Amino acid sequence: MNEQKAQERPVVVQGAMSVETAELIGAMSDAVEEPFGPWRMVRGQLFGHPLVVCETQWGMANAAALAAIAIDRYHPAALISQGTAGAHEASLNVYDIVLGVQTVNESAWQSHYRPVGAGAPYDDLKKLGVFAWDAEKKEFTQEVSHAADAGLLAAARRAVPQYARGKVVEGVIGTCDSWNCAIDRVNFLHDFYGSLCEEMEGDAVAQITQSLGVPFLAIRIISNSILHNQDPWDLGTGPACQRFVMEVLREWWSRK
Ligand code: SAH
Repeated sequence: MNEQKAQERPVVVQGAMSVETAELIGAMSDAVEEPFGPWRMVRGQLFGHPLVVCETQWGMANAAALAAIAIDRYHPAALISQGTAGAHEASLNVYDIVLGVQTVNESAWQSHYRPVGAGAPYDDLKKLGVFAWDAEKKEFTQEVSHAADAGLLAAARRAVPQYARGKVVEGVIGTCDSWNCAIDRVNFLHDFYGSLCEEMEGDAVAQITQSLGVPFLAIRIISNSILHNQDPWDLGTGPACQRFVMEVLREWWSRK
C-alpha cells in the first residue's frame, strides 16, 4: 500500500439491521471487527478503498450516536445512511430506490393550541425542524430539512444505470421513530413534508454530519408500501440496496 492510500480517510456506511449491512461486510476484504459497546462496526477495504460499516439497530438515537462515534474514531471522508423504507408515494414500488436530496425529521412539529375536549388531530401541526450547526452562520440553526452533499449525490446519479431491480428517484426522505400504517397519515406526511418514503435514521444522522462537517447522503430502498398493501416488508431489498450503495461508492472513489 502506498503512503497516500494508507492515509486515505474511510467512508462510513450505516445500516440498521444485519440484513442492511451483511452484503457490504461480505464484500469487504481485510475486515476487522471494531465494535463500540454492543454495536457492530467493521473496518475493511472495498474496491481498494477504506470502508467502515456500522450496524446501528433501528432508530434515530442509535444512528446519531453511532455517527458521532464513527466520525470521532475514523475521521471519515463521507457518511452514507442506507437501508429499507416504507413508501409515501404511490408511484413507488418495492425495490425502487430513493436518493435523499433532503432528509426531514417528521417528529419535529408543534401542534396548534386546542382546549380540552377539542381533540388532537394528527394534521393540525406547524413544522419545527431540529438544530444542527450552520458553519456559515457559526451557530446552531433550526432547519426543517437537511440537504445531501452534492458530490455524493452526483456519484449516486452516476450509479443509477447500474441498478436494474427498480427505478431510482430523487427527493425527500422522512425520518421518525415510528412506523405509519394508516394511509391517511401517510398521505398527510407526503403532502406536509413532501416525503417520498419513511425510515427511522436518516435525518438524525444528517444533523450530526452537518454539525461536524462530514459529507452525507441518505439512500433508501422501498421495502414496504402501505399504499399498495405491501406490508410487512420484502427483506430481499436490504441486500439490493447495499449492492447499489457499492456502485455509488465505486463512482465516488473514481472521481476523488
Ligand atoms: N415492524 C417491522 C420492522 C420495522 S424495521 C416488522 O414488520 O418487522 C424498522 C427499520 O426499517 C428501521 O431501521 C427503518 O429505518 C426501516 N423501515 C422500513 N420500512 C419502514 C417504515 N414503513 N416505517 C418506518 N421505518 C421503516
